[in-house]
This record gives sequence, structure tokens and C-alpha cells, in this order.
Amino acid sequence: MGSPKHYHADVVVAGGGIAGIVTALELLDYGKKVVLLDRDEERYFGGQAITAFGGMMIVGSPVQKRMGIKDTPELAFKDWCNTAGFSFEDVLPRQWAEMYCHRNLPDVYRWLRGRGVRFLPAVMWPERGFYGTGNSLPRYHIAWGTGYGFTSRLIENLMNHKNRRNLEIHFNHRVTGIETSGGAVCGLSGEVEGTGEPFEVKADVVVIAAGGLGGNLKKVRALWPKEMGKAPDDLFIGSHPFCDGAMQDMAEKLGGVLTNMGYMWNYPDGVTSANPRFPGYGLHVITPKSALWMDYRGRRFGPQPLIGYIDTTYVVARICGQEKPFSWHVMNWKIAARELALSGSDHNDAIRDKKFFTLLKNTLFGNHELVKRMVRECPDFITADTVQELAKKMNDLAGTDDIDAAGMEQDIRDYDAQIDRGVKFFNDDQLRRIAHSLRWSGDRVRTCKYQKILDPKAGPLLAIRYRMMTRKCLGGIRTDLHSRVVDRNDRPVEGLYAVGEAAGFGGGGINGKSSLEGTFIAPAILGGRIAARSISGERNP
Ligand SMILES: Cc1cc2nc3c(=O)[nH]c(=O)nc-3n(C[C@H](O)[C@H](O)[C@H](O)COP(=O)(O)OP(=O)(O)OC[C@H]3O[C@@H](n4cnc5c(N)ncnc54)[C@H](O)[C@@H]3O)c2cc1C
Repeated sequence: MGSPKHYHADVVVAGGGIAGIVTALELLDYGKKVVLLDRDEERYFGGQAITAFGGMMIVGSPVQKRMGIKDTPELAFKDWCNTAGFSFEDVLPRQWAEMYCHRNLPDVYRWLRGRGVRFLPAVMWPERGFYGTGNSLPRYHIAWGTGYGFTSRLIENLMNHKNRRNLEIHFNHRVTGIETSGGAVCGLSGEVEGTGEPFEVKADVVVIAAGGLGGNLKKVRALWPKEMGKAPDDLFIGSHPFCDGAMQDMAEKLGGVLTNMGYMWNYPDGVTSANPRFPGYGLHVITPKSALWMDYRGRRFGPQPLIGYIDTTYVVARICGQEKPFSWHVMNWKIAARELALSGSDHNDAIRDKKFFTLLKNTLFGNHELVKRMVRECPDFITADTVQELAKKMNDLAGTDDIDAAGMEQDIRDYDAQIDRGVKFFNDDQLRRIAHSLRWSGDRVRTCKYQKILDPKAGPLLAIRYRMMTRKCLGGIRTDLHSRVVDRNDRPVEGLYAVGEAAGFGGGGINGKSSLEGTFIAPAILGGRIAARSISGERNP
């Protein structure tokens, strides 16, 4: 191998996801010379955010006000702490959470708006919790254009920046080492993907923005927390294989501290992708509220029925607590068309491509095209005219005879019978929660009004096999409120910063054990901005 390629900068940023892009953008504002490196090819610039749905937890926004939601940073922080379950040691994560609750409106929402990013005029209400945790109010703001829209916009800002000459971007550059001199960080080294050609970057400051470890199934399984049941053998990757946790390990070798690495925001509802970018990639279903969530034998989970997007961590633990850690969702076509969605920009083309009338049509009349597409493309979607036929197809798909067809039919009939008895007599937690959803306009448009499963006018029946998928790593490199990597005594490791998922979205785990949703991209933006301001000498970044 020849001598290494050499680059020089004030700051080198490792990782071109949303956290790295925002950091670089702000550093250019301060006139810094920046080298931005990413392992991936140029066409995938933007990391996970470019494929993301683009939901953000924002507090006190004009959209909330227009919808009559009286939210405050104090209430948001209270909800955050109840859900995160911070431990005594989680001092910095807790401080980051408080800072985020107070600063998200000016530093994320308005900052994005100032760069031409718009949000849908309705706020959603995920993660409202089963038992007193969760969001007290709707706070989930969806970017018009999805993650694709705002990430492309920020990339455009970067490329057209007045100080663009101060920025070098190198794709296919994999960082394999952080260099030090006299105890301080002084750059990065690595090799070019494909050719193996070595490179070195000399810089006063290194920013780690290389994502989490959701792409490294070996690590995910090793760190899987006991309270989440057994780590499934069959796990989809919902992030990216390059999110392998390698740069977290490099930070640890330099005295940094990795915290809460076993806390993960995995999804229980992964399905096979028809166009995977890499082997093992799964899609995350935004689960219909009116469908019945069944265990691996086709029996309804109980006594507390499972409902998606209320307490994801609880649902994951319940499913992984079974002998076989996967599940089924049983519904009919009408429910699927009205309520089913998939996360990510690829399956939300109306929002991604900003087609308002298509979005309106899908919302009012159901997204039949999406359901047809999934039935056509995804082997995990099964349709049938009778429960017996559905059960047989479920068994065929799983390659077992686990499905208890008679038991499944009884569970469905019992649920339908409750609906027949009338709203006044509902005593089923799922129906009570549907009633709650129907009271909130943001949910009402996407919720069927007490839809029976075996309604002959709503068929055919539909079952979806869900398997676990990784998505976000909630833990990470511990950072202080300047995004500086700190050691065991909370002293900064000189010249080393970490932002985004690599830093657990701030402090080494801003979400603690569980998230309120939309608490990933937005804190990554805040963390990147703070890092850049701190590097540029701001005393209160
Ligand atoms: C389909 C999908 C939907 C999502 N929806 C939402 C949502 O609605 N709301 C939300 O808040 N979050 C969402 N997320 C999660 C969110 O997108 C990520 O958590 C966030 O974008 C992480 O940003 P990041 O910049 O920290 O890391 P990443 O986006 O993971 O970027 C890290 C970058 O570093 C590069 N890299 C890694 N290792 C190296 C190395 N050794 N050398 C050089 N480069 C390296 C990678 O190639 C990558 O480009 C979603 C994620 C996905 C996949």
C-alpha cells in the first residue's frame, strides 16, 4: 500500500448523517475549515435521516397552539423523565433532556423553518403510555417532505454555503482510528472503502458523528437487556450496517465513557423489505390501532392487549417474553387501508414528494395503494376470506403448525362481540384506547370507528407477520452540555466531541430507557449545533 492521503482542517467530522451535516454547516458559519468523512457512497449522503419519516418531538410550536394544545417545556420534561426512567448515574443524560425540552423550539424547529423546512399542519400523539408514562399531549411534528426533504435541504445549504471553499467532503472514507499527540486528539486515520488506500486527517478537533450500533446484530444481541426478554435470532436491521459501534469503542479507548448501551429503541413490527439496500434490512410498520395483536400461536395478547405506538418498549418486552419472539397482527382490508402506514421516506411518497391532494385523499379514503403494494411485494402480508384459511396461510409462512385456528377465531369473535354490545359497554382496553384516539383530531382521521374484524363488508382478512427490528441505540458516548466527550470524572477528553446517535443523542443517552418518539433526529440537530458553537469558542453554546 502506498503512503497515506493527507488532509488538513480545523475540525474533522466523522459521519455524514444529520448530526455530522448540521455540525459541519454550523462550523462553516463560524468560518472553520472542515473535513467531513463518510464510509458510504456519495449517493447515500445524509445517513439514516435521508430515509427517515422525519417526525420530531417539538414543544410549544405554532402548530400545537393552532390545535389548542397547551404545552410547556416543564410538562415535556416531566413526561420525558417519567418515560426515560433515568438512573441515579444518568446526570448528563437528564441535563441533556432538560436542555432539549427548553431549546427544541428555537434551536431545532425555528432553525429548520429558517432553512425552508415546513411541517404538516397536524400534530400526532404517539407514545402516550399504558401506565402513566408517555406524552401527556400530542407533540410529534412531521416534516413536510419527510426526512428526505429536510436532509436534502440541509445538504443543499452545505453545498451552497458562502464558506463552501472551507469544506472538503470525502465519501467511501472509513475511519479506523483516532490519532493523538501529547495526550490530545489530533486527527483521524482510516482507509478508502474498496481500495483499502490509507488516509490521515490532521485537525485540532475531531467530532464523532458515526451513528449508533443498530447495524451490528452481534453487538445488539450481546447488549440486549434482560428485562426485554430474549434477543431474537431473527432480527431485522432497521438502521444501517455501517452503524456498527466501532467509533464508540475508539472513544472509549481514549478515556471516553460508554453509557446505557443496552438501552435500545427497537421496533416489534418489522417486515421484509422488497427492495433492501443491504441484506437483513427490515421495514417498520406503523401499526393499525384497530387490528388485533396476536402471539406466535395466533392468540390475542392479554390480559393487557397490545396496541402499537403507545408504549413501544412494553410491547417489545411482551413479545420477546414469549417462547418464540415474534407476533402477528390480524385485521381486515378496511382497517389496513385507513390505519396502516410504514415509516421512512420510501413508503410515504405523498409526504416526501409534497403531494397535498394525494395525502388528503389517502387520509380521507384510505391508502389502498399502499396495502395493495405491501400484499404484492411483502411475503409477511397474507390475505384470506376466512379465519381458517388465514390460519393455514400463517402456519405455512411460519413453517410450523403453531397457529391455534379455533382459538384465534374465538378471540376475534369475542372482540367483535364487544363492539356489537355498544360503546356504553366497552370493557376492553383496546376499545377504550380507540375511543381515546377518536377524541383527538390528529388521530381521528386515521382511526376506524370501532371496526369489527369479521365484518363481511370490510374484507378480505389480512394478517401481517411481525419480527423484531433494531432501529436506534439509546445509549452512547457520554458528552457534556458542550457535546464534548468526557471521561469517568466528567472531564473533557481534549479535542474530542460526539454528536447524534453516537452520543446517545446527547449526554450518552438522552432518552434513558425509553423514548417519547421523535426524540432522535431533533436532539441530533441540537447536539450538532452545540458542538459547532462550542468548538468555535462560544461560552454558552
Ligand atoms: C427508516 C427510518 C426512519 C426513521 N424515522 C425517524 C423519525 O421519524 N424521527 C426520528 O427522530 N428518528 C427517526 N429515525 C432515526 C434517525 O434517522 C437516526 O437516529 C438519526 O438520523 C441518526 O443520525 P446520526 O447522524 O447520528 O447517525 P447516522 O444517520 O447513522 O449517520 C452516521 C453516518 O456515519 C457513517 N459512518 C459510520 N461509521 C463510520 C466510520 N467508521 N467512518 C466513516 N463514516 C462512518 C455512516 O455511513 C453514516 O452515514 C429513523 C431511522 C430510519 C432508518
